[in-house]
Parts: sequence; C-alpha cells; structure tokens
Amino acid sequence: MHIRTLIEEKLLICPQCSEENLSLEADAAKCNACHQKYSLANDKIHFVVHEESPTHDSLDKIKTFFKKYPKLYGLLKDTVSPLYLKNDIGNFLRQNGGDKKVTVNLGSGNFAVAKNVFNLDLIAYDNVDIVSNLEKLPFKNDSVDLLIINSVLEHVPNPGVVVLEMERILRPGGKIFASVPFICGFHASPYDYTRWTREGVKVLFKDFQMEDLRPEGGPTSALLWVFQEWFATLFSFGSRTLFNLNYLLIMLLTWPFKYFDIFMRRLPTAHHIHSCFIFIGEKKAT
Ligand SMILES: [Zn+2]
Repeated sequence: MHIRTLIEEKLLICPQCSEENLSLEADAAKCNACHQKYSLANDKIHFVVHEESPTHDSLDKIKTFFKKYPKLYGLLKDTVSPLYLKNDIGNFLRQNGGDKKVTVNLGSGNFAVAKNVFNLDLIAYDNVDIVSNLEKLPFKNDSVDLLIINSVLEHVPNPGVVVLEMERILRPGGKIFASVPFICGFHASPYDYTRWTREGVKVLFKDFQMEDLRPEGGPTSALLWVFQEWFATLFSFGSRTLFNLNYLLIMLLTWPFKYFDIFMRRLPTAHHIHSCFIFIGEKKAT
C-alpha cells in the first residue's frame, strides 16, 4: 500500500488541525480545513521538518554512521552488541497477517522490518515513509490494524502521550508490539529519558488487553551493557578517546557471554534485572 492510497482511503488526518480532510496534489497533500500543505514525493510524506540535532557523543556518531547501512547495523547488533535479541517482530507480523493490514512502525529509524509496513519517524531517513512527531500521529481514530514500537518510548519526552496516541489510532481488536528497556546504559539516539520495570510496563499499557509480557534482552544482556560502560569509564582516566577505545575492546571481548540469556531469561527472578521487555496487547472494544 502507498501513502497516496492512505490519503485516498481517508486514513490520514492533518496533524495541525486534526481534520480528516486531506486532498492529493502533484507533490503534496493539502489540508482543506487549515490549508496546510505537506510535501509528498517518492511516496514519502513530511508532516514535520526536523533538523537532526548534532550528536556530540562519539559512540553515537559511530552508530549514526552504521545506521546508514541498516543491514550491516543489524548484523553488528546481532553479534557484538551486548544484547541477546530475537527477531520477534517478524513472528508478530506473521501471526497477525501483517502483510494484508495497515501496519505502522513508530520511531522506525532507518529499518524496514518488513514490506507493507509504513515506517514513521521524526527523522526523514531513506526508509521512512511518514515523517511525523510521535505525540501527534497523522492517522485518524481506529484506522490502524497493527502497531510496532521497538525501543523507542525511552527516547520521547512524554511516552504516556505517545501510548494514548497509539490507542487512539488503533482499531478495536488491533494489536501492538512494544519493546521497552529496563536495565541498560544511557544511549542518546539522540535523546534518552526513562526506563520501565515489568510492573511499570503493565501500567504504561494498562488500557490494552495484555496478550504477552516477556523479556527481550535478559539479565546477562543487562549486566554486560552496564559492565562494558563501567570498564570503559574506569580505564578512561577522563579521556573520551580512551573511553571509546576501551568500550570497543571490551565489547569485542565479552559479547559472547550474552548467550547465557538463552536459559537465564526464563528463570523466575530474572525479571528483576532484565535488559528490556516485550509487551503484546490488543485494543479493547469500546
Ligand atoms: Zn489542517
């Protein structure tokens, strides 16, 4: 499905005035209520113009560089990163017929998780289809079947507002796949604000019918991330360059330990220090 189809089927709204009154022009979508125009080219629509703030964190600069090559970045994430992660998004989409539905990946970054998924992000990366603020989503009420929000809510200043927006645009019976962090280091991409315990995740998504709440990265992932930061900081002696070198060194030396999580994540007390959680839930019928 294309962005133009979303507009023709009246699934998108004007985020400025919330009216369901967008019409298509050659290179834009125009709101007939407030007359705001949104540029639309190569099947990508810009609801906001966001200048990416300069990143001063040098590890973040390295990450930003690799994010231009999503496949390579994904491979590095699967190997040398301290997190034991599984590709549960693919399963979620398969189990819920994601290829035939209106599915939106919120805060997608430059990753295309699957075909037929609309990627929405504040930053206009190549793979982003809808450039938008997450606190004011350009979808009308009850218009989306499936929502993905993967390691994003810690990076927005008002996660509760984003969750309310998710509930608003999801149709009753529609499902969300969310992953949120608990124990992990500060990671500015470009901002980082908060964390959730398992109980905190239940409160965050209390308006959804919970289907599953399980660990993503387990206790070893959490320990590794914190240990690597600790090691890099201790032997940095205050030097940023040494910190970065230490970090790369200790990552390369310790990443295989994360596979302890294959069995550790199932232990009953493991959630005390899980690295992150996955929540799957359904919008209740009203
Ligand atoms: Zn408008």
